[in-house]
Amino acid sequence: MIIYLETRAKNYTLTQDILRQFPQSEVIEMQHYKNLFDKTIGDYPLAPCLILAEQSPIPILETPPKYGFPGRSFFFKPSINCIFDCSYCYLKGTFKNSFPVIFVNYEVMQEQIDQKIGLLRTEGYEGQITFYASNYSDVLAIDHWTHFNQSFFPFFEKQEHVLLETRTKSANISSLLQYAKEHPVPKNIEIAFSLSPQSITTLYEKGTASLSQKLKAIQTLLTLGYRVGLRFLPLLPVENYQERYAELMQQIKAQIDITKISSIFIAPLIYNTSDYLALQKKSDLPFLSFLHQQEQGLMKMQQKYYDIFEALFTNAFPDHQILRDYQ
Ligand code: SF4
Repeated sequence: MIIYLETRAKNYTLTQDILRQFPQSEVIEMQHYKNLFDKTIGDYPLAPCLILAEQSPIPILETPPKYGFPGRSFFFKPSINCIFDCSYCYLKGTFKNSFPVIFVNYEVMQEQIDQKIGLLRTEGYEGQITFYASNYSDVLAIDHWTHFNQSFFPFFEKQEHVLLETRTKSANISSLLQYAKEHPVPKNIEIAFSLSPQSITTLYEKGTASLSQKLKAIQTLLTLGYRVGLRFLPLLPVENYQERYAELMQQIKAQIDITKISSIFIAPLIYNTSDYLALQKKSDLPFLSFLHQQEQGLMKMQQKYYDIFEALFTNAFPDHQILRDYQ
Protein backbone atom coordinates (compact mmCIF):
# COMPACT_ATOMS: atom_id res chain seq x y z
CA MET A 1 0.00 0.00 0.00
CA ILE A 2 1.21 3.49 -0.87
CA ILE A 3 -0.13 6.45 1.08
CA TYR A 4 0.16 9.76 -0.72
CA LEU A 5 0.17 12.41 1.96
CA GLU A 6 -0.50 16.04 1.29
CA THR A 7 1.99 18.16 3.23
CA ARG A 8 -0.70 20.37 4.77
CA ALA A 9 -2.65 17.26 5.91
CA LYS A 10 0.27 15.85 7.88
CA ASN A 11 -0.51 17.14 11.35
CA TYR A 12 -4.17 16.22 11.61
CA THR A 13 -5.05 13.68 14.29
CA LEU A 14 -6.99 11.64 11.74
CA THR A 15 -3.98 11.53 9.42
CA GLN A 16 -1.77 10.22 12.19
CA ASP A 17 -4.40 7.69 13.15
CA ILE A 18 -4.76 6.39 9.59
CA LEU A 19 -0.97 6.18 9.18
CA ARG A 20 -0.79 4.09 12.36
CA GLN A 21 -3.30 1.68 10.82
CA PHE A 22 -0.96 1.03 7.87
CA PRO A 23 2.47 0.64 9.48
CA GLN A 24 3.89 -1.25 6.48
CA SER A 25 2.82 1.29 3.89
CA GLU A 26 5.16 3.48 1.89
CA VAL A 27 4.34 7.14 2.56
CA ILE A 28 4.99 9.62 -0.23
CA GLU A 29 4.56 13.27 0.60
CA MET A 30 3.09 15.60 -2.00
CA GLN A 31 2.24 19.28 -2.29
CA HIS A 32 -1.39 18.93 -3.37
CA TYR A 33 -3.55 15.85 -3.79
CA LYS A 34 -4.77 17.05 -7.19
CA ASN A 35 -1.24 16.60 -8.53
CA LEU A 36 -2.09 12.92 -8.51
CA PHE A 37 -5.86 12.72 -8.22
CA ASP A 38 -6.59 15.05 -11.10
CA LYS A 39 -4.42 13.18 -13.58
CA THR A 40 -5.27 10.57 -16.16
CA ILE A 41 -3.04 7.66 -15.22
CA GLY A 42 -3.90 5.08 -17.89
CA ASP A 43 -4.92 1.47 -17.47
CA TYR A 44 -1.73 -0.14 -16.22
CA PRO A 45 -1.97 -1.89 -12.84
CA LEU A 46 -1.04 0.26 -9.87
CA ALA A 47 -0.22 -0.57 -6.29
CA PRO A 48 -3.15 -0.10 -3.91
CA CYS A 49 -3.05 3.41 -2.61
CA LEU A 50 -4.77 5.96 -0.46
CA ILE A 51 -4.52 9.73 -0.61
CA LEU A 52 -4.81 11.79 2.58
CA ALA A 53 -5.57 15.44 1.98
CA GLU A 54 -7.04 18.62 3.38
CA GLN A 55 -10.21 19.81 1.70
CA SER A 56 -10.10 23.49 0.90
CA PRO A 57 -12.42 25.06 -0.05
CA ILE A 58 -15.12 22.76 1.31
CA PRO A 59 -17.99 22.32 -1.12
CA ILE A 60 -21.45 22.01 0.43
CA LEU A 61 -23.45 21.57 -2.75
CA GLU A 62 -27.21 21.87 -3.00
CA THR A 63 -28.75 18.73 -4.49
CA PRO A 64 -30.51 18.88 -7.86
CA PRO A 65 -34.30 19.46 -7.77
CA LYS A 66 -36.40 16.40 -6.80
CA TYR A 67 -33.44 14.64 -5.24
CA GLY A 68 -34.06 12.58 -2.10
CA PHE A 69 -36.02 13.77 0.93
CA PRO A 70 -38.32 16.79 0.71
CA GLY A 71 -36.86 20.06 1.98
CA ARG A 72 -33.44 21.58 1.40
CA SER A 73 -30.63 19.09 0.81
CA PHE A 74 -26.90 19.23 0.32
CA PHE A 75 -24.00 16.96 -0.60
CA PHE A 76 -20.67 17.09 1.15
CA LYS A 77 -17.57 15.03 0.44
CA PRO A 78 -15.64 13.60 3.38
CA SER A 79 -13.95 11.25 0.91
CA ILE A 80 -13.98 10.69 -2.82
CA ASN A 81 -13.76 7.56 -4.92
CA CYS A 82 -14.81 4.20 -3.66
CA ILE A 83 -13.17 0.98 -2.58
CA PHE A 84 -15.84 -0.90 -4.54
CA ASP A 85 -16.00 -1.23 -8.29
CA CYS A 86 -19.56 -1.08 -9.57
CA SER A 87 -19.56 -1.24 -13.35
CA TYR A 88 -22.15 1.50 -13.71
CA CYS A 89 -20.66 3.88 -11.12
CA TYR A 90 -20.79 7.45 -12.35
CA LEU A 91 -17.58 8.22 -10.46
CA LYS A 92 -15.76 6.42 -13.29
CA GLY A 93 -16.92 9.23 -15.53
CA THR A 94 -16.65 12.04 -12.99
CA PHE A 95 -13.03 11.62 -11.88
CA LYS A 96 -9.90 11.03 -13.90
CA ASN A 97 -8.71 8.11 -11.81
CA SER A 98 -10.05 5.89 -9.07
CA PHE A 99 -7.57 6.64 -6.24
CA PRO A 100 -9.47 6.91 -2.95
CA VAL A 101 -9.03 10.27 -1.22
CA ILE A 102 -9.82 10.83 2.45
CA PHE A 103 -10.18 14.42 3.60
CA VAL A 104 -8.95 14.69 7.15
CA ASN A 105 -10.14 18.14 8.22
CA TYR A 106 -13.51 17.07 9.64
CA GLU A 107 -13.78 19.98 12.07
CA VAL A 108 -13.72 22.58 9.31
CA MET A 109 -16.26 20.55 7.32
CA GLN A 110 -18.54 20.59 10.35
CA GLU A 111 -18.09 24.35 10.74
CA GLN A 112 -19.14 24.83 7.11
CA ILE A 113 -22.19 22.62 7.56
CA ASP A 114 -23.07 24.49 10.74
CA GLN A 115 -22.83 27.79 8.89
CA LYS A 116 -25.05 26.49 6.10
CA ILE A 117 -27.72 25.41 8.59
CA GLY A 118 -27.43 28.75 10.43
CA LEU A 119 -27.82 30.68 7.19
CA LEU A 120 -30.95 28.78 6.15
CA ARG A 121 -32.53 29.25 9.57
CA THR A 122 -31.66 32.96 9.55
CA GLU A 123 -33.38 33.23 6.18
CA GLY A 124 -36.50 31.80 7.81
CA TYR A 125 -36.35 28.25 6.43
CA GLU A 126 -37.79 25.93 9.10
CA GLY A 127 -38.15 22.64 7.20
CA GLN A 128 -35.91 19.58 7.17
CA ILE A 129 -32.35 20.01 5.98
CA THR A 130 -30.72 16.82 4.71
CA PHE A 131 -27.02 16.25 4.22
CA TYR A 132 -25.77 13.42 2.02
CA ALA A 133 -22.26 12.16 2.77
CA SER A 134 -21.96 9.17 0.45
CA ASN A 135 -22.45 10.38 -3.08
CA TYR A 136 -18.75 10.44 -3.89
CA SER A 137 -17.61 7.38 -1.92
CA ASP A 138 -19.04 4.65 0.29
CA VAL A 139 -18.39 6.29 3.65
CA LEU A 140 -19.52 3.35 5.79
CA ALA A 141 -17.33 0.88 3.88
CA ILE A 142 -14.18 2.71 5.03
CA ASP A 143 -15.37 3.91 8.41
CA HIS A 144 -12.94 1.61 10.25
CA TRP A 145 -10.16 3.79 8.72
CA THR A 146 -11.82 7.19 8.80
CA HIS A 147 -13.95 7.24 11.98
CA PHE A 148 -16.46 9.34 10.09
CA ASN A 149 -19.37 8.11 12.22
CA GLN A 150 -17.60 8.74 15.49
CA SER A 151 -16.92 12.35 14.49
CA PHE A 152 -20.05 13.31 12.55
CA PHE A 153 -22.82 11.52 14.47
CA PRO A 154 -22.44 13.63 17.66
CA PHE A 155 -22.24 16.75 15.48
CA PHE A 156 -25.50 15.96 13.65
CA GLU A 157 -27.23 14.81 16.83
CA LYS A 158 -26.91 18.36 18.17
CA GLN A 159 -28.88 19.79 15.22
CA GLU A 160 -32.62 20.21 15.01
CA HIS A 161 -34.70 19.12 12.06
CA VAL A 162 -31.55 18.05 10.27
CA LEU A 163 -30.82 14.61 8.83
CA LEU A 164 -27.58 12.98 7.74
CA GLU A 165 -27.91 10.15 5.24
CA THR A 166 -25.02 7.81 4.65
CA ARG A 167 -25.64 5.32 1.88
CA THR A 168 -23.80 2.05 1.56
CA LYS A 169 -23.35 -1.17 -0.33
CA SER A 170 -21.24 -2.60 2.48
CA ALA A 171 -22.18 -4.56 5.59
CA ASN A 172 -19.41 -2.94 7.60
CA ILE A 173 -21.43 -2.00 10.67
CA SER A 174 -18.79 -2.58 13.36
CA SER A 175 -18.44 1.15 14.09
CA LEU A 176 -22.22 1.48 14.34
CA LEU A 177 -22.37 -1.35 16.85
CA GLN A 178 -19.58 0.27 18.85
CA TYR A 179 -21.25 3.68 18.69
CA ALA A 180 -24.49 2.26 20.07
CA LYS A 181 -22.57 0.80 23.02
CA GLU A 182 -21.18 4.21 23.95
CA HIS A 183 -24.00 6.63 23.01
CA PRO A 184 -27.75 6.73 22.64
CA VAL A 185 -28.67 5.46 19.18
CA PRO A 186 -28.66 8.52 16.88
CA LYS A 187 -32.00 9.88 15.71
CA ASN A 188 -30.76 12.33 13.07
CA ILE A 189 -28.88 9.73 11.06
CA GLU A 190 -30.35 7.42 8.44
CA ILE A 191 -28.20 4.51 7.35
CA ALA A 192 -29.40 3.76 3.85
CA PHE A 193 -28.57 0.39 2.34
CA SER A 194 -28.48 0.12 -1.41
CA LEU A 195 -29.87 -3.29 -2.42
CA SER A 196 -29.95 -5.15 -5.72
CA PRO A 197 -30.83 -8.72 -6.65
CA GLN A 198 -27.82 -10.92 -5.82
CA SER A 199 -27.39 -11.87 -9.49
CA ILE A 200 -26.97 -8.17 -10.36
CA THR A 201 -24.59 -7.60 -7.44
CA THR A 202 -22.47 -10.54 -8.59
CA LEU A 203 -22.29 -9.24 -12.15
CA TYR A 204 -22.03 -5.48 -11.71
CA GLU A 205 -21.18 -4.54 -8.08
CA LYS A 206 -17.70 -5.93 -7.62
CA GLY A 207 -16.40 -5.98 -4.04
CA THR A 208 -19.67 -5.00 -2.38
CA ALA A 209 -21.30 -7.06 0.37
CA SER A 210 -23.62 -9.88 -0.62
CA LEU A 211 -27.35 -9.40 -0.29
CA SER A 212 -27.52 -11.76 2.68
CA GLN A 213 -24.71 -9.89 4.48
CA LYS A 214 -26.51 -6.59 3.96
CA LEU A 215 -29.87 -7.95 5.12
CA LYS A 216 -28.25 -9.37 8.25
CA ALA A 217 -26.59 -6.00 8.95
CA ILE A 218 -29.89 -4.17 8.42
CA GLN A 219 -31.77 -6.42 10.82
CA THR A 220 -29.05 -6.00 13.45
CA LEU A 221 -29.25 -2.20 13.19
CA LEU A 222 -33.06 -2.25 13.31
CA THR A 223 -32.94 -4.32 16.47
CA LEU A 224 -30.63 -1.75 18.03
CA GLY A 225 -33.02 1.06 17.12
CA TYR A 226 -31.06 2.63 14.28
CA ARG A 227 -32.96 4.51 11.63
CA VAL A 228 -32.46 2.45 8.46
CA GLY A 229 -33.60 3.15 4.91
CA LEU A 230 -33.67 0.97 1.80
CA ARG A 231 -32.47 2.27 -1.53
CA PHE A 232 -33.04 0.47 -4.81
CA LEU A 233 -30.72 2.27 -7.11
CA PRO A 234 -29.90 2.13 -9.77
CA LEU A 235 -32.83 0.07 -10.99
CA LEU A 236 -31.50 -2.02 -13.83
CA PRO A 237 -33.95 -3.40 -16.40
CA VAL A 238 -31.72 -6.32 -17.29
CA GLU A 239 -33.04 -9.62 -18.70
CA ASN A 240 -35.76 -11.11 -16.45
CA TYR A 241 -35.61 -8.08 -14.19
CA GLN A 242 -39.17 -8.46 -12.94
CA GLU A 243 -38.47 -11.96 -11.63
CA ARG A 244 -35.10 -10.93 -10.18
CA TYR A 245 -36.55 -7.96 -8.29
CA ALA A 246 -39.61 -9.95 -7.14
CA GLU A 247 -37.26 -12.53 -5.62
CA LEU A 248 -35.27 -9.73 -3.97
CA MET A 249 -38.38 -8.36 -2.32
CA GLN A 250 -39.35 -11.80 -1.03
CA GLN A 251 -35.88 -12.17 0.51
CA ILE A 252 -36.16 -8.75 2.14
CA LYS A 253 -39.55 -9.49 3.64
CA ALA A 254 -38.34 -12.86 4.91
CA GLN A 255 -35.16 -11.54 6.56
CA ILE A 256 -35.84 -8.08 7.95
CA ASP A 257 -38.64 -6.38 9.84
CA ILE A 258 -39.87 -4.21 7.00
CA THR A 259 -42.30 -2.34 9.30
CA LYS A 260 -39.30 -0.71 10.99
CA ILE A 261 -37.77 0.60 7.78
CA SER A 262 -37.70 4.38 7.82
CA SER A 263 -37.86 5.15 4.10
CA ILE A 264 -37.72 3.44 0.72
CA PHE A 265 -36.41 5.19 -2.38
CA ILE A 266 -36.14 3.91 -5.91
CA ALA A 267 -34.02 5.61 -8.55
CA PRO A 268 -33.07 5.02 -12.15
CA LEU A 269 -29.64 4.79 -13.59
CA ILE A 270 -28.85 8.40 -14.32
CA TYR A 271 -25.88 10.28 -15.71
CA ASN A 272 -25.12 13.70 -16.93
CA THR A 273 -24.18 13.50 -20.59
CA SER A 274 -20.42 13.87 -20.13
CA ASP A 275 -20.27 11.12 -17.46
CA TYR A 276 -22.39 8.92 -19.71
CA LEU A 277 -20.08 9.40 -22.68
CA ALA A 278 -16.98 8.79 -20.53
CA LEU A 279 -18.49 5.59 -19.12
CA GLN A 280 -19.59 4.40 -22.54
CA LYS A 281 -15.97 4.66 -23.69
CA LYS A 282 -14.72 2.68 -20.68
CA SER A 283 -17.26 -0.14 -20.63
CA ASP A 284 -19.73 -2.10 -22.65
CA LEU A 285 -22.70 -2.34 -20.32
CA PRO A 286 -25.87 -3.82 -21.85
CA PHE A 287 -28.19 -1.56 -19.89
CA LEU A 288 -26.64 1.69 -21.16
CA SER A 289 -28.85 1.25 -24.23
CA PHE A 290 -31.94 1.59 -22.00
CA LEU A 291 -31.04 5.18 -21.26
CA HIS A 292 -32.51 8.12 -23.07
CA GLN A 293 -31.56 11.75 -23.15
CA GLN A 294 -34.05 13.64 -21.02
CA GLU A 295 -34.49 17.11 -19.56
CA GLN A 296 -31.43 19.12 -18.48
CA GLY A 297 -29.13 16.96 -20.57
CA LEU A 298 -29.51 13.96 -18.24
CA MET A 299 -29.37 10.39 -19.51
CA LYS A 300 -32.04 8.39 -17.67
CA MET A 301 -33.89 5.11 -17.75
CA GLN A 302 -37.02 5.24 -19.91
CA GLN A 303 -40.21 6.15 -18.06
CA LYS A 304 -42.00 2.87 -18.93
CA TYR A 305 -39.42 0.89 -16.94
CA TYR A 306 -39.67 3.28 -14.01
CA ASP A 307 -43.44 2.78 -13.92
CA ILE A 308 -43.08 -1.02 -13.95
CA PHE A 309 -40.52 -0.90 -11.15
CA GLU A 310 -42.67 1.42 -9.06
CA ALA A 311 -45.66 -0.94 -9.38
CA LEU A 312 -43.46 -3.89 -8.33
CA PHE A 313 -42.24 -2.11 -5.20
CA THR A 314 -45.64 -0.67 -4.29
CA ASN A 315 -47.20 -4.13 -4.46
CA ALA A 316 -44.39 -5.69 -2.44
CA PHE A 317 -44.31 -3.03 0.29
CA PRO A 318 -47.90 -1.72 0.47
CA ASP A 319 -47.44 -0.09 3.88
CA HIS A 320 -44.57 2.10 2.70
CA GLN A 321 -44.56 5.09 0.48
CA ILE A 322 -42.20 4.30 -2.39
CA LEU A 323 -40.34 7.54 -2.99
CA ARG A 324 -38.86 8.29 -6.38
CA ASP A 325 -35.52 10.01 -6.64
CA TYR A 326 -35.13 12.45 -9.50
CA GLN A 327 -38.81 12.31 -10.32
S1 SF4 B 1 -20.71 1.48 -4.02
FE1 SF4 B 1 -21.53 3.36 -4.92
S2 SF4 B 1 -19.79 4.76 -5.00
FE2 SF4 B 1 -18.96 2.71 -4.70
S3 SF4 B 1 -18.47 1.93 -6.76
FE3 SF4 B 1 -20.54 1.25 -6.23
S4 SF4 B 1 -21.92 2.84 -7.08
FE4 SF4 B 1 -19.84 3.71 -6.98
